[in-house]
Amino acid sequence: MSTSTNLPGWTHLYSGKVRDLYEREGAASDALLVVASDRVSAFDHVLSPGIPGKGELLTTLSLWWFDRLDVPNHLLENQADAIPAEVSGRAMLVKKLDMFPVECVVRGYLTGSGWKEYVESRSVCGIPLPEGLNNGDRLPEPLYTPAYKAPMGEHDENISFEQSVELVGEADATALRDASLAIYAQASEIAEQRGVILADTKFEFGRDPQTGALTLGDEVLTSDSSRYWDADVYASAETAEARMASFDKQIVRNWLAANWDQSGTPPELPAEIVEETASRYRELLGRLTA
Ligand code: ATP
Ligand code: MG
Repeated sequence: MSTSTNLPGWTHLYSGKVRDLYEREGAASDALLVVASDRVSAFDHVLSPGIPGKGELLTTLSLWWFDRLDVPNHLLENQADAIPAEVSGRAMLVKKLDMFPVECVVRGYLTGSGWKEYVESRSVCGIPLPEGLNNGDRLPEPLYTPAYKAPMGEHDENISFEQSVELVGEADATALRDASLAIYAQASEIAEQRGVILADTKFEFGRDPQTGALTLGDEVLTSDSSRYWDADVYASAETAEARMASFDKQIVRNWLAANWDQSGTPPELPAEIVEETASRYRELLGRLTA
């Protein structure tokens, strides 16, 4: 699905499953435009149809978080002036960073692929855990579980902290881990004050080519990069599964898991799944930013 827009003054560089990347034209350009579309992906497939308003909701959420977090980030000044009208509301103007090939995942709760691994081996990404945990339980401590960011089209791969040291060196690997855990702690506290649990999330960092500073890039703490649950439901639900009332694309994942055997092309999402997802995304934004 090629949906990038022709933007005068910008060169289209790359389209991921959900976002389109443009580079500002001109010598020694150091600016990128990250445009979020309404596309939704699950199990590594882009699904049809998209979720109306998703690109704008996720961009608004990212900007809100960047503003609150105590770390340098890639946003450039004068967002409003420089962003083309065609993509306004769903684009961020950012400084081009030298990205680390590491997805910095932090898990505060046991679920998803972590839960699957725990059932088989009592560990998450090779980190041993106590017996007796259930799907959705809070982990004794938030875990940093990095993944290797595979080149375009390939599958990201979970790696150990030691393997991340081999990839980027001891100093940077440690800095990535510490920054990720610190941001998770700050963000989950902010979310919890608003009745929302930040179950897990993923950050991407790069190095500022001018200053050398470790800088938070990509999108941050969106409902695509994170699992968010309703804290009231979590506290009062009768079953482990029912606790995880999601403000993220788990709704889509669950529907797809029940209606598709993961071979061939995924089926069209029904209108009610699309609407429910859009409405949960809107609710999350409202709760956090109110
Ligand atoms: P996927 O479809 O699996 O998400 P992807 O992560 O490559 O693939 P997107 O997330 O849509 O695709 O694209 C965003 C890309 O932009 C990522 O590769 C991300 O690492 C990169 N990126 C984000 N911020 C910056 C930045 N400030 N400088 C350079 N690259 C960046
Ligand atoms: Mg990505």
